[in-house]
Amino acid sequence: MTAGSVALEGVTKRYGSETVVADVSVTIAPGEFFTLLGPSGSGKTTTLSMLAGFVVPDEGRVMLSGQDMTRVPPRGRGLGMVFQNYAIFPHLNVAENVAFPLTVKRAPKAEIARRVADAMAMVKLEGFEGRYARQLSGGQQQRVALARAIVAHPPVVLMDEPLGALDKNLRYHMQVEIKEISRRLGMTVIYVTHDQEEALTMSDRIAIMNRGRIAQMGPPREVYEKPDSSFVAAFLGEANLLKARRDGNAVAGPGGTRIDAGAGALGASDGLLFVRPEKVSIAAGGADGAPNTLPGQVRHASFLGNIVRYQVEVAEGATVLCDTANGAGAALHAPGDPVRLSWRAEDSRLLAA
Ligand code: ADP
Ligand code: MG
Repeated sequence: MTAGSVALEGVTKRYGSETVVADVSVTIAPGEFFTLLGPSGSGKTTTLSMLAGFVVPDEGRVMLSGQDMTRVPPRGRGLGMVFQNYAIFPHLNVAENVAFPLTVKRAPKAEIARRVADAMAMVKLEGFEGRYARQLSGGQQQRVALARAIVAHPPVVLMDEPLGALDKNLRYHMQVEIKEISRRLGMTVIYVTHDQEEALTMSDRIAIMNRGRIAQMGPPREVYEKPDSSFVAAFLGEANLLKARRDGNAVAGPGGTRIDAGAGALGASDGLLFVRPEKVSIAAGGADGAPNTLPGQVRHASFLGNIVRYQVEVAEGATVLCDTANGAGAALHAPGDPVRLSWRAEDSRLLAA
């Protein structure tokens, strides 16, 4: 395999009787931006630590650029890293911090100076060379850590929640920067986050982790729109998950309403009918007998600025969330109004309960 490829082959890690990473296999292409997403404790950091070499797996292999690195210490792996517990050194100034991966390799002085200047420009920290950690904001410190991770142009960079400490605006700005730098340098990035939006914006592919396993893996749009489980559906943003059961070629939803679900989605007999709130259309008036339509009553309308979110009570006390764009001339529905909800069969799936 070519430089920059990464593979985990049946990797397992146990602590005592607890299996924290269970038989994880994944192949990542050179230049890919790959994200491990999952709730706290799902095994993301442990997985990344096995790639880094801080943790040795109990089973399986770690391959980097086609070479077995399972037992090679971190230093020998040639990776760039931005880890939460791998902060910038307080006794070195910014330029010395950024230069660190090159100075330990005893790179020539002129090359160090040139590469440090490049990296400083990429993270927009020119003029901060002489400062120390205590003289920098949280965001500036994270940019120093990023510059240090990329200064040697490693083929693979590992990042564990690198933007965790930043406020929303700076976070968004840095997401764009990291994505841009990784593309420009052609680096493979393995990125860890528990933030769904961050994963969706930045990644070529996302692996959603649950209890040490990969629950689902795919491009952002695919895992968002075609979740295979209620866990993935609920973890990646808002999801309607309505009690339903298979009924011939259709699905019986709340109140026995027959609803078509996407072809191939009828995997389970008893299950949960999944549809995202923004895929649900709402119209004034109650039942009209049209296929794929659920009658209901508006319980609550929340004005969120760009969207209006309706909570609609349908049969059997079930509630469906429906998001409508607050566009020009958009109709408003008030609490108590009878309404009809509908969606396209291909936007829904029947998932195992
Ligand atoms: P995440 O990064 O997804 O929040 P971690 O990989 O840090 O999850 O942890 C996964 C599980 O492994 C957690 O239950 C955690 O408590 C446990 N764990 C992690 N490191 C150790 C360790 N060194 N010793 C014992 N348990 C650990
Ligand atoms: Mg973690």
